Amino acid sequence: MAAPLTPGRAYGMLSDRTRLRMTDRLRQLGVRDERVLAAMYEVPRHLFVDQALATRAYDDVSLPIGHGQTISQPLTVARMTELLIQGRQPGRVLEIGTGCGYQTAILLKTGAEVYSIERLGAILDLARRNLRAAKLVHARLVHGDGHAGLAEAAPFDGIIMTAAARHVPQALLDQLAEGGRLVMPLGDEEQHLWLIEKTSQGLQKSKLEAVKFVPLLTGRA
Ligand code: SAH
Repeated sequence: MAAPLTPGRAYGMLSDRTRLRMTDRLRQLGVRDERVLAAMYEVPRHLFVDQALATRAYDDVSLPIGHGQTISQPLTVARMTELLIQGRQPGRVLEIGTGCGYQTAILLKTGAEVYSIERLGAILDLARRNLRAAKLVHARLVHGDGHAGLAEAAPFDGIIMTAAARHVPQALLDQLAEGGRLVMPLGDEEQHLWLIEKTSQGLQKSKLEAVKFVPLLTGRA
């Protein structure tokens, strides 16, 4: 009879071949930015999900992280990061909806200076623990309502929102640097990813693929 896998051995397996398989799949699905692919290979995604779900951490699915929230599927994380940084240095980035901290970790690995806002204190603590376990401790995590952005650290070269809003919060447009990009899901039952670029001529908006995110809520808890 085969010896049962200890968590340590299981994680060892998860950390190499399985991650390579995930990045190969992302490549096949059209992710091209090598910085994003390298970050997705390097960050141990299983550290960001519940231990009971660790074996599914590298499947292309979203998973529950508690408090009714989810970690986005790898393809969505890769796509949004690519949209945010393609063709330039990531610079200073604001994330809205820290969740388990996985997207935060990917942004950090691409070299971005990251600020991340989360409205749920318990989830923010979870993100802090996960990021510490992954040895990625240099993000500024803020407990607050992302609708207001983070004026004291603005302007941002990139803003990424990982919860779906009905409208684009004006504060976020105000806090975007000229040449900066905002990537976010917009909608309710039916949601699409939007890329909004701030140019010297004004805002350039592109509606992209259909997505499914938890809603952006107001206030903090
Ligand atoms: N990027 C995350 C995805 C988290 S799910 C990850 O990689 O895991 C979306 C998160 O947005 C949830 O944790 C939710 O609590 C948070 N959220 C919802 N409305 C918010 C708001 N107004 N301000 C900040 N965070 C918000």
